[in-house]
Amino acid sequence: MHDFRIKSGRLHCEGVALEALARERGTPLYVYSQHTITDHFQKLDRALADLPDHLVCYAMKANSNAAVLRLLANLGGGFDIVSAGELYRVVRAGGDPRRCVFAGVGKREEEIRYALEQGIYSFNVESAPEIGRINKVAVALGRRAPIAIRINPNVEAGTHAKITTGTYENKFGIAIEDVAAVYARAARLPGIRIRGVQMHIGSQITSVAPFVKAVKKALPLVKKLQALYNIEFFSIGGGIGIVYDPALESATPGWWRRNPKARTWLTPRRYAENIVPLLAPLGLRVLIEPGRFIVGNAGVLVTQVQYVKSTPEKTFVIVDAGMNDLIRPIFYDSYHQIVPLRKTRGTLVADVVGPICESGDYFAKGRRLAAVREGDYLALLSAGAYGFVMASNYNSRPLAAEVLVNGTRHAVVRERQTQADLVRGESLAEWLK
Ligand SMILES: *Cc1c(COP(=O)(O)O)cnc(C)c1O
Repeated sequence: MHDFRIKSGRLHCEGVALEALARERGTPLYVYSQHTITDHFQKLDRALADLPDHLVCYAMKANSNAAVLRLLANLGGGFDIVSAGELYRVVRAGGDPRRCVFAGVGKREEEIRYALEQGIYSFNVESAPEIGRINKVAVALGRRAPIAIRINPNVEAGTHAKITTGTYENKFGIAIEDVAAVYARAARLPGIRIRGVQMHIGSQITSVAPFVKAVKKALPLVKKLQALYNIEFFSIGGGIGIVYDPALESATPGWWRRNPKARTWLTPRRYAENIVPLLAPLGLRVLIEPGRFIVGNAGVLVTQVQYVKSTPEKTFVIVDAGMNDLIRPIFYDSYHQIVPLRKTRGTLVADVVGPICESGDYFAKGRRLAAVREGDYLALLSAGAYGFVMASNYNSRPLAAEVLVNGTRHAVVRERQTQADLVRGESLAEWLK
């Protein structure tokens, strides 16, 4: 599952003790396990072995650190990108643009031009007007742009509203009933080459049923597109969920143990067993676009307790990470397990909060924690996806550093920001000087 484990009373990432790392590199600190990322990528890749022509396109919006991208490029992965900036990161990290698919409802002209020049595999188109724009840019460059239309299958993903994407309430894709007509129009455009079809129904999906339902719903259309346009690929998107529930229970007698109540989740095998039989008969190249599954449980956010404060109502554990570092709890009502980096005795019940001047700046409410004290370190687990990438400088807080661990080695793969970084690019209006 992941490589964060207790060894001699200390939490380790692979062979590196996190407390020593936190002292050396400071906090808040994102720490990623190379082995976990590799393992998750390979588990998915191998689960799809019965689809001889498949490509795992890592949805890099989940974690776009250059070292993570290089690692996945080295493993043979492609990338699901949502902006020109993400493509720039791929290219810079040594990834192959010919393995990139470009999603997103708001592609600008210059983004389309850049992606065409880089030779991406496919534009995953989200609206009819977007096809017109892609055609225009391609014609001006004397090219044909490879496209796939993103089908909106109108299927409930059974996940949080903010990460549901495949229903008609959402801005994504083209309604399944309209897709055939949009392809027909696209086929007549001189700058467009129809290459495939795509869908993505949402994120943090923890059962296989919504995937099966969406694929089944799309199949007749996919077959029709194959017959009409000889399409070469079908991307079924990402969205495979991970376990955020505690896999470990802390502060119990004997300290941590496996939590018997941790929910079972969607394994790559389960996913593949249900999906592959539907797709294999098509003979198409199959793409999947996992983000969270690959990096989510491969990262933690390490933070230091600044104060333990009691009010007549409750206890607050105030840490040095804030919602600017990890916004998921307040944005998605998400749960992150919070564990101390070293063995402690006893427990307390507290709200774990950051230093930011917002009541929404919390990581947990009324949580039973190890009895931590000022100066102790905590790790927020499962913070590798949609963690650092959503960080901001709110409250003029420098962005955290990121570290990649590989066995007993570690590398700082992003420097902590300095105060000078906070004001880079700002200037006074000339009339204020
Ligand atoms: C966000 C996104 C993904 C990845 O979602 P995960 O839940 O992280 O796997 C895949 N495809 C598209 C088009 C996306 O927008």
